[in-house]
Amino acid sequence: MTKQKERIVVVTGGSRGIGRAICIALAAPGTSIYFNYFSPNDPDAEAAAAAETEKLVAEVQGSASSKSVNIAKENEVIDFFKEIIDETGRIDVLVNNAGITKDGLLVRMKEQDWDAVLNINLKGAFTCTKIAAKVMMQQRYGRIINMASVVGVTGNAGQANYSASKAGLIGLTKTTAKELASRGITVNAIAPGFIETDMTASLSEKARNAMLSQVPLGRAGYPEDIAAAVAFLASESASYITGQVIHVSGGMYI
Ligand code: NAP
Repeated sequence: MTKQKERIVVVTGGSRGIGRAICIALAAPGTSIYFNYFSPNDPDAEAAAAAETEKLVAEVQGSASSKSVNIAKENEVIDFFKEIIDETGRIDVLVNNAGITKDGLLVRMKEQDWDAVLNINLKGAFTCTKIAAKVMMQQRYGRIINMASVVGVTGNAGQANYSASKAGLIGLTKTTAKELASRGITVNAIAPGFIETDMTASLSEKARNAMLSQVPLGRAGYPEDIAAAVAFLASESASYITGQVIHVSGGMYI
């Protein structure tokens, strides 16, 4: 019997929230997950969060290893992928999940808040995709999944930087899907709605209720709701789907 190839998965921002749920959902015997995270303010807490993801993946018989890598810095991303490729020789799945918000009304938005969000949410995904795509093209196989947002489609007052980054990510998804399809690589985006994570935990009760009132299914989403869609897009069952934006938002956008 021929030995089954190891499946190599890279997830950005896997230490917490949706990224952690994705790592757990993709974990399986024979799959190695590499994820990064980056929090300059509290490195010890973030390293502990990353270790917790590794532990949770191991509990479902998977294997995960993590590294602090700022996806906004091209040189850090190059080194991160080089280590993975030197070790494994392939990348089967890339999930561009890491993202941040720095909300504020447009007329008061500082240049650094615009740049920070665009550099992480959009440029980071571009850099990771560019590196992974080269390996996937040689393999003639790959799955790329980009974490967009419902507000990348609808817009949202107070989130000019964030919604622009997510709209840009949708454009990147569609173009990359067209460029890479002939090499057996699919590229899709997921547009989550209001999901219970640290990112939304700081919202006021009023803002939270206003968001929830826009959800026809009447509840906030869980990271596992998003991870299930990622697992589907990464699976062989989704091999004929590319260039699409899958909304997982309880119907926030219909
Ligand atoms: P989260 O709980 O705040 O987690 C964000 C993750 O990204 C963390 O692992 C964080 O690492 C990592 N990260 C942040 N900046 C990074 C950088 N420069 N380099 C590498 N990693 C970085 O967020 P979440 O709610 O799970 O969101 C995950 C994705 O879903 C994001 O792209 C977000 O925009 C999108 N999304 C979320 C919602 C929602 O309602 N939560 C809705 C729509 C879309 P540290 O732990 O080190 O900080």
